Amino acid sequence: MEADVRLSVERLTVGYHGKAVLSEICFSVHKGELFTLVGPNGSGKTTLLKALAGLTQPISGTILLDSKPITSYLSYERASKIGYVAQASSIHWPFTVYELVSQGRFPSRGWFGNERQEDRIAVEEALEITDLSGYRERLVTELSGGELQRVLIARSLAQKPELLILDEPISHLDIRYQITTMELLQKLISQGLSAVISLHDLNLASLYASTMSLVAKGCIVKHGTVQEVLRPEILQEAYTIDVEVTPHPEHPNLPMIYYHRQR
Ligand code: ADP
Repeated sequence: MEADVRLSVERLTVGYHGKAVLSEICFSVHKGELFTLVGPNGSGKTTLLKALAGLTQPISGTILLDSKPITSYLSYERASKIGYVAQASSIHWPFTVYELVSQGRFPSRGWFGNERQEDRIAVEEALEITDLSGYRERLVTELSGGELQRVLIARSLAQKPELLILDEPISHLDIRYQITTMELLQKLISQGLSAVISLHDLNLASLYASTMSLVAKGCIVKHGTVQEVLRPEILQEAYTIDVEVTPHPEHPNLPMIYYHRQR
C-alpha cells in the first residue's frame, strides 16, 4: 500500500438487513486529500460515511485506516482518529458551546478525566478556527441550525482527528459560512488532515474537492478529478436532469454546473 494512504476501502458492500445499498466499492483516501461524495438522494452516501466512521457494520469488504482494519481499533482509539459529524444532527441537552466542543476531547482524556491544558488549547483552537470564540457560553439548544452545524464541526476538530468524515456539512449554512467551512477544510487538508465529505452543491464541490466520487444506482458510477466526474452526460444520467457544464470564469479548469428549466 502507498505510504500516504490514510483510508483504503476494498470491495466494500454496505446496506441494511443484508440488502446492499452500495456494492463492491473500492477507493482510497490519501493524507491531505478532500474526498467528496456526490450523488442523488437515497444513493447511499450517508450509509457509506457511517460505515467509514465505524458506526455500522459493512455487509462485506474491508476498510483499512492507516493500513489496519477499522474493526481492529478499540472504540476510543477509533474515536480519537476519526471525527464524524452526522447530517442535520440535533442536540437536546442544554450544554454550552464550550462544553459541547470540549466533548471532542473525551476519547483522549476519558469521560471522567479532568480537563488538561492541552484539552483547553485544542478546544480554544477549534472555537477560533470555526469563528465561534464569541459563543462559548451560549446554549446549544438556542442556536440556529447553521450555528449548531459549526459547533459540531468544532467538536470534531477539537478531537484533532486524522480523518474527518462530514455528512453534508454545509447544508444549513448561509453562503458565507458555506465558503468559510470549505476554506477551513482546505486549510486543514493542506496541513495533512484527510476528509471524506458528502455535498449536494456540485459547484462548491468543484471549487474545493481534491477527488470526487459520484454514487448512484448502487455503485460509484464515476470516480476521479472534478473535471472527470462533473461532465454533463454523467450528471444527466445520474440525476436525470438537463445540465450544462461551463468553465468557472476565474478558474477555467474548474467545471461549473448550470441547470436548465425542465422543458
Ligand atoms: P443518501 O445519503 O445518499 O441520501 P442514504 O445512505 O441515506 O442515502 O440511504 C440509502 C438507502 O438506504 C435509501 O434507499 C434509504 O431509504 C435506505 N436506508 C437508509 N437508512 C436506512 C435504515 N436505517 N434502514 C433501512 N434502510 C435505510
